Amino acid sequence: MPEIINTTNPESLSQNSSEKLKHRLDALSSTIPEIAETREIIEKGSQSLIEDFGLEAEMFDDEVLSMFFTAIAQRNGLLLQQLESGPIDEEVAKGEKEFIHDAMALVGMDYSSLSNELRAIDDGATAELSDVEQREKNQKEQMIYESLTNVRLTEKIKGKINSGLLDSVKAMMKIDTDNEDQYDIRVLDVCNMQTLSAMETINGFGIIDSKLDVYVQDISKNIELYEQELGQENYNDMAPAWSEGINGKKTIFLTKILADMMVSPELFVKGSRRGNYNIAVEALKHEYVHAQGDLMPTSGTMVNLFLEEFRAGTYGNFGEYYDCKAIEYFLKTASGFSLKEFIETNPKGGGPSALFAEISNKIGLQAAMEIGLILPEAYQKKSGNNICKRTSEYIGNDMGYIRRICKSPRFKDKLDPTFAWYMGLTKEIEKPSIEKQ
Ligand SMILES: [Zn+2]
Repeated sequence: MPEIINTTNPESLSQNSSEKLKHRLDALSSTIPEIAETREIIEKGSQSLIEDFGLEAEMFDDEVLSMFFTAIAQRNGLLLQQLESGPIDEEVAKGEKEFIHDAMALVGMDYSSLSNELRAIDDGATAELSDVEQREKNQKEQMIYESLTNVRLTEKIKGKINSGLLDSVKAMMKIDTDNEDQYDIRVLDVCNMQTLSAMETINGFGIIDSKLDVYVQDISKNIELYEQELGQENYNDMAPAWSEGINGKKTIFLTKILADMMVSPELFVKGSRRGNYNIAVEALKHEYVHAQGDLMPTSGTMVNLFLEEFRAGTYGNFGEYYDCKAIEYFLKTASGFSLKEFIETNPKGGGPSALFAEISNKIGLQAAMEIGLILPEAYQKKSGNNICKRTSEYIGNDMGYIRRICKSPRFKDKLDPTFAWYMGLTKEIEKPSIEKQ
């Protein structure tokens, strides 16, 4: 990214931030012992980050952002120490420096004096709006959503939920009437051919041929309205279902096709009707998880997206994020730590700070930060200038992340030899036998 020089941060501001950070580090030291053990390095790396990004003291009121900051500062402190103490490969130092800068941009975006500049660079971030602009945007969105809402299908789905459609996922997440977050649900009369055919290929369902044209025509014209009015540039990327925070409350959106799979299975001829129904229910469960708790700590950047999609996939097996699940398996094999067990044990899968602390204490502070900065495969391929895409690539995306865990001094000598062989990390053992299935 182009270098942005920060000239707007008065000294007093950075002093307040440093003071607040100090208290935060004191508090975090008991939760994450590694912070106490490496405090000197963390402090060494802190000051320039606070100054370069004009970080406001309020950032350190946020526990999980402070945890991320601490890991980035530790990384920066180590780099500064290496640069001081001896020759270090120039390319390595440059890569690290850029990574640290990108990581800080993502984590500090909401509290940086460079926020607007950073948001302008990052396609993955949404622009920060004034209160008036935000209100206008919300009103406009609300109107469009109203006009596209299929009232009949929305009521049918709500009825199914009231009759217990989501009870199993609620039980798994330890949700009852006391701790369930309020949410809305809407079925929209939108869908697009691309989603339709992708789902057909993936899931093997189809719509009765003679009805297909009418069905697609009906919902295709709406997508143009959706695109024009809401400025969704590439509606071909539209997911079959998604959830969105509106005025502090999550709304689950289902496209008509998913709702029909649950309500009118007779429309579909390919694949089994039960299979179609199950796919749609899993998608709904997945979005329900997103509406109940959230692991993503910033507004509009993709920090922790990987973990959030894994959490949603733990309860709603929608199939899109198979790579997140595969990585969980590798991570457990390499380190003994199971993300799945942690998520299944804690109500709503645990909050972002609890999870960050757990990963830090089981695999290390850097590992807790890095998993927050990798992207699920579905997002790695998206085009655009996205800072999180760059951090993810630097780490080597999800498999690169696992290899880093395997190569870390903490786990290197403890790896199961067969697993190490699969990771390409040892040449000493013979190719493992694959005779036994
Ligand atoms: Zn999701």
